Order: sequence, then C-alpha cells, then structure tokens
Amino acid sequence: MDIKQNLNTIQSQLPEHVTLVAVSKTKPVSDLMEAYAAGQRVFGENKIQEMVEKHDQMPKDIEWHMIGHVQRNKVKYMAKFVTLIHGVDSLKLLKEIDKQAQKHNRIINCLLQIKIAEEDSKFGMSSSDANELLHSEDFSTLNNVNIIGVMGMATFTDDSSQVRQEFERLKLAFDMLKTTHNTLDVISMGMSGDYQLAIDCGSTMVRVGSSIFGSRNY
Ligand SMILES: *Cc1c(COP(=O)(O)O)cnc(C)c1O
Repeated sequence: MDIKQNLNTIQSQLPEHVTLVAVSKTKPVSDLMEAYAAGQRVFGENKIQEMVEKHDQMPKDIEWHMIGHVQRNKVKYMAKFVTLIHGVDSLKLLKEIDKQAQKHNRIINCLLQIKIAEEDSKFGMSSSDANELLHSEDFSTLNNVNIIGVMGMATFTDDSSQVRQEFERLKLAFDMLKTTHNTLDVISMGMSGDYQLAIDCGSTMVRVGSSIFGSRNY
C-alpha cells in the first residue's frame, strides 16, 4: 500500500469544504506516521483504548476523532485530547462527556449519530429524538459539550440507490435540526466505498479507512 499516494488521490477528489478523516483503526503507528508525513492531521479510531495509545505515541498536532460506539465508562480516557466524538446517541452519554470535559476545562465537540440504515444493527437515534434532545432542558445546562452536526452510517450493501436514500435521509435530518440550531455545520457520512456518493448528498466529512491504509484483518 502506498499510503501517501492513496491520500493524495483521495484528497484530489474532495471538494475544499469536505474534511477527510483517515480511519486508522487496527493499523500500526508506523502506517499512521506515513500518513502524517504526507500531511494528514485528522485521524479516526473506533476504540478508545487504541486511540489513547496512538495519541500517546504520536505528534501532538493531530486531531483525534472517535468514530465508533462510545461506552460511557471509557469517556474519561479520551476527554483530555479528543477533538470530535461522532457517535453520540443519547443524552446520558452527552452528560458523561460534559462531565469529563469539565474536569479538563475543555469544550468537546460532538456529532449526534442518526439512524439512517434500514438494517437494525446500527446505533443511532431518530431525527425526532435528536430534535428533542437539542431542545431539552437537560441539554441546555451542559456547558462543556458542543453539538456541531450529525453522523450516519448507511446499510452495508452494493445497492447504491438504497445507500443514496439513506444519505439523503441524513441530509434531511440535518436540514431540519439546523432550522432551530443554525450553528450545526458538519454532516459526517461516507466511507471508502461510498464517499463520492455521500458528497453528492451533502456530506462535509468523510471517514475513509481501507482506501488509504489497505484492508483490515480483524
Ligand atoms: C471503519 C469505519 C469507517 C471506514 O471504513 P472503510 O470502509 O475502511 O473506509 C468509517 N466509519 C466508521 C464508523 C467505521 O467504523
């Protein structure tokens, strides 16, 4: 795998307003350092422990994004440095993030994960639940979290018309939430197989792993 060349190829296809999150889960620090040397500064991991270990070993100008499902009892390990948490799907989790952020005197940026896939194995909240959360009394008291947008994962399928429908669903949810929260500006959707489609549907942040680092052996 030529990581630098893969990055350059992908970057050249992205409009300027789209952020590339290099998804480095399961990959060794040496691979991440190759991406870093090629100029990449935004990395996404899906396990908190792994992200903490990589953060400890790598340069400190990296933005670390937690893109996986977050267990509340592990938020404390990343609160000191995480830049963006993509998978927030409950007020309970948001409260814990707020509490841990406060300990470090930080404001942590978060995305609400919206369930857009037909299949039910995926995490996330409905757009009406997200709307309710943003308007809740509880949420208004949290001073150390900032919701800056939404995240979604499409069904794992070759049927691109279904994937398009699901991406459009996330864009609609975003537009609806933005009518009352006009500070929202991130739509995190699109992975190696579908990031171009996602951008067509309004994505502003793509999470790309295997097209940069090669396939993963779990
Ligand atoms: C692994 C992962 C990705 C990247 O997947 P690729 O197909 O390797 O690009 C994106 N988003 C999430 C939430 C992931 O867990």
